[in-house]
Amino acid sequence: MNPIAVVTGAQRGIGFGISSVLSQRGYTVVLCDVDEAGVRQASEQLPGSHFRVLDVQDFDAVAKVMATVEETVGPIAVLVNNAGINRDRMLHRLTESEWDEVLNVNLKGQFNCVRHVAPLMRQRRFGRIINISSASWQGNIGQANYAASKAGVIGLTKTAARELAPFNVTVNAICPGFIDSPMTRRLPPEAFERMMAKIPMGRIGTPEDVGRVVAFLASEDGAYVTGEVINVGGGMVL
Ligand code: NAD
Repeated sequence: MNPIAVVTGAQRGIGFGISSVLSQRGYTVVLCDVDEAGVRQASEQLPGSHFRVLDVQDFDAVAKVMATVEETVGPIAVLVNNAGINRDRMLHRLTESEWDEVLNVNLKGQFNCVRHVAPLMRQRRFGRIINISSASWQGNIGQANYAASKAGVIGLTKTAARELAPFNVTVNAICPGFIDSPMTRRLPPEAFERMMAKIPMGRIGTPEDVGRVVAFLASEDGAYVTGEVINVGGGMVL
């Protein structure tokens, strides 16, 4: 039986790139996303994959979806917490709801998934959890909510890594730099060019650039790596 990988926010962008790479490498991928039509279509493009409609903010819904994946697809070996949103605005204009929305999806969403999957991995003495943070975790103008959520992801990752290491469950974070996705294509052209100018390798990253690092961490080659924060940004953060 192929190992099973659950990827959240998987219907497009980085999540779909991660799902494609894992699918090519022999995983049975379960694509999870809040966008029902999108996740159905995305799953149709990856032979042998499954999909679930899931809002990661909803603690009980995450519990149900993870339980049905275990019952109907099989034991979850790899969890990739990728679902994320941004609501960028300068701090003096940032609204309470923009703060809450971003923290709920980006940070609570990852907690919800780890909370419901880690106990199963612990019992089985095997698991790989990969949390998608961001280069912005170190602070970025107009992204107080986003940066706080992504810095929180690193705290969650390092704590989970310490707690789960004795059970052969690794937990790592990846910080993508500037990756080609609907999220970055929404930027105004001047902001897009400003970000491009910060990349020493001189090209935007692809979702598959991130997917291949996820595949490494999920594989036997990454078995002794835990609690790490890995930049995937063409040298953007050095
Ligand atoms: P994207 O907006 O293209 O895709 C995000 C996906 O998450 C979408 O499919 C969306 O439907 C899904 N999603 C949103 N809210 C959800 C929810 N509540 N429950 C389940 N799914 C939900 O973004 P992307 O650029 O592909 O980003 C993916 C991840 O990578 C995010 O966590 C983002 O913060 C992070 N990231 C992206 C970049 C970049 O340059 N693109 C850089 C650093 C970090």
